Amino acid sequence: IFQLSIPLSFLGSIYRDIKQNLLDMEVLYKLRDDYPPVKDAPDAPPYEFRGGSLRFENVSFAYHPDRPIFRNLSFTVPAGKKIAIVGPSGCGKSTIFRLLYRFYEPNGGKIYVDEQEIHSVQLETLRKSIGVVPQDTPLFHNDIMHNVRYGRLEATDEEVKDAIKAANVHETIERLPEGYSTQVGERGLMISGGEKQRLAVARVLLQDPPILFFDEATSALDATTEAALMKNINATLLQKSRTSIFIAHRLRTVVESDLIIVLQDGKVVEQGTHDELIKLGGLYQTMWVQQVTAENFMDDSMDDITN
Ligand code: ATP
Repeated sequence: IFQLSIPLSFLGSIYRDIKQNLLDMEVLYKLRDDYPPVKDAPDAPPYEFRGGSLRFENVSFAYHPDRPIFRNLSFTVPAGKKIAIVGPSGCGKSTIFRLLYRFYEPNGGKIYVDEQEIHSVQLETLRKSIGVVPQDTPLFHNDIMHNVRYGRLEATDEEVKDAIKAANVHETIERLPEGYSTQVGERGLMISGGEKQRLAVARVLLQDPPILFFDEATSALDATTEAALMKNINATLLQKSRTSIFIAHRLRTVVESDLIIVLQDGKVVEQGTHDELIKLGGLYQTMWVQQVTAENFMDDSMDDITN
């Protein structure tokens, strides 16, 4: 019995490790093989949540030395506010999240969360406080309940279903022949980009992180579905005071933000509320006019087709 109990407890601890690791974003993004593991300093303290403010201070970064993405990028996100990061395609919006999550190291400058430099704290404790709804949500080959439960492994079935309902994807799921037990992911049922993103919202609702990153999908959602999703996010995720950062392509989704940060050529070129930036008459205003004109053009074309 003694001989047997050792390997069993050993297996138990491996099982717990595997379960815990499933929560890691590296696994979620299948990044573990692509990036070297990040090692904490031996004496690194845990990250301590103090409201969820973020600060980039003179951050420089390049994926390849000959093509800098950020040069002395500085900005501050106040705790508990809803902010948006906008800018031309490829300007580095998603890279901000990758640096914050320490998938990559900056070449210069510092990043602080709650005034704690992110390289001086235990990475795991930092990542646990940051939830993300990625552009393209990875789903594991498993059923819908399991996929959402990755947000918080101890959640009850009831809690998982409540999160799915709050993310407004329950009606679609309940119509499937196998309902919540439907297999998704590789070799499973193909579900739409919009449904996947709503499952990611459900996952994050269960995780209930104090800091939230929402990487808006460029093409997964049509405008109506997106408006419905944003309404849900406002009613669920943002009901509670948390710092939320929307990486946005469609400016309509950011109009209500407390602060909009406009990036161009690796720098913050403008920041303020929607009204302030429109008055300023710079890049944001140009982008806004372009998008509104394009939308009106689409509406007119649709009218022509339908009439
Ligand atoms: P979009 O609005 O199109 O989603 P973005 O502003 O979020 O773009 P990023 O995804 O942050 O832009 O990428 C910034 C730049 O870095 C882009 O030019 C992109 O091609 C490049 N880039 C992104 N990831 C890598 C990588 N792993 N290796 C090399 N270059 C990369």
